[in-house]
Amino acid sequence: MATFKLNAKLQAGPFPYSFLSSSRLYWLKVAELGRLICLGIESTADNLGVGIAASDGAILANEISTHVPEEGGIHPREAARHHSEQMGNVISRALTVADVHSRDVDLIAFSQGPGLGPCLRTGATAARALAAYLGVPLVGVNHCVAHIEIGRLATGSKDPLTLYVSGGNTIVTGFEAGRYRVFGETLDIAIGNCLDTFAREAGLPYPGGPAVEKLALTGKRLIRLPYVVKGMDLSFSGLLTAVVQELHAGRSGLEDLCFSLQEVAYSMLGEVTERALAHTKKQELLLTGGVAANRRLRSIINSIAEEHGASPHFVPIGYATDNGAMIAWTGVIAYRSGVRTPIETSYIDSRWRLDEVEARWRA
Ligand code: AMP
Ligand code: MG
Repeated sequence: MATFKLNAKLQAGPFPYSFLSSSRLYWLKVAELGRLICLGIESTADNLGVGIAASDGAILANEISTHVPEEGGIHPREAARHHSEQMGNVISRALTVADVHSRDVDLIAFSQGPGLGPCLRTGATAARALAAYLGVPLVGVNHCVAHIEIGRLATGSKDPLTLYVSGGNTIVTGFEAGRYRVFGETLDIAIGNCLDTFAREAGLPYPGGPAVEKLALTGKRLIRLPYVVKGMDLSFSGLLTAVVQELHAGRSGLEDLCFSLQEVAYSMLGEVTERALAHTKKQELLLTGGVAANRRLRSIINSIAEEHGASPHFVPIGYATDNGAMIAWTGVIAYRSGVRTPIETSYIDSRWRLDEVEARWRA
């Protein structure tokens, strides 16, 4: 170590020594060989998450603050205001929980997309400011990739076919030829959005998924609702319209409506997932994203995995919904594989697709 010590002359000197001018950069070079600590900021929608992950796979902190709208769905600018108001608190909490000093953070990761523009911008701004202040590199992370990576880390699965279901995304994906490829996805709204919107119409608390799940347990009658699978893709908007119409028609009990909505939506997801699993012949099936908390969906995934001789994996609840740990962890593995996001090109991309990302760390 001592041989790397910089003297004043070298520090002030011109090229070729100028690359040593930042002692922080030098320490980073050394740190790359050892254990890296990454602070990750998640802010794609209503959750502001700050996680701290180490390159050995330890999750040191995973703090969340959720914006709950007074009425209606998520309002992007109001959620962004919540995130900017809470940013300092959540970052401090994460550092305290992790017992890490800010000067020990080696890099900053942030969710660069996809998501709601104002929310993404708030997280990106904080990430850039932190990286510049601490003099550490910045890594922009794809939010969907992060859901898969935290699932792989937390369950120990290596190369799973993944069903990623959340408030904003519904994707069946697997790693092939350098990227996470999309085998099937929603053509309109996400499954979580469908559940949340129905729940709101029915006067149930937000988020709607858990409330619908609870009521569905006592539902018995399967009401006829549109089941829409087009090739390998899914559509939930017609299903939502139909179930809301049935609710307002007053013919059916809420329990039966919740039961039927779950049965139809989760069967659709099961059909596409099963076909992708049969096609790819993956040995592992991973369920990730906020809707992965659902027991009925888990049992469907279990049966599919069993039928095809694959092992089922479920992301733990704490990492299912949007969180900062998944961004920190993906940031650290991406960084290790050579991914860098210079501040000048760190703009957010609210429509950044998962299959646009070169997953170099999987090579
Ligand atoms: P995320 O977008 O990953 O943060 O996930 C949030 C989504 O997960 C919301 O749409 C919730 O309604 C949904 N969710 C959470 N718990 C459950 C559950 N038990 N069943 C179904 N959906 C759920
Ligand atoms: Mg998400």
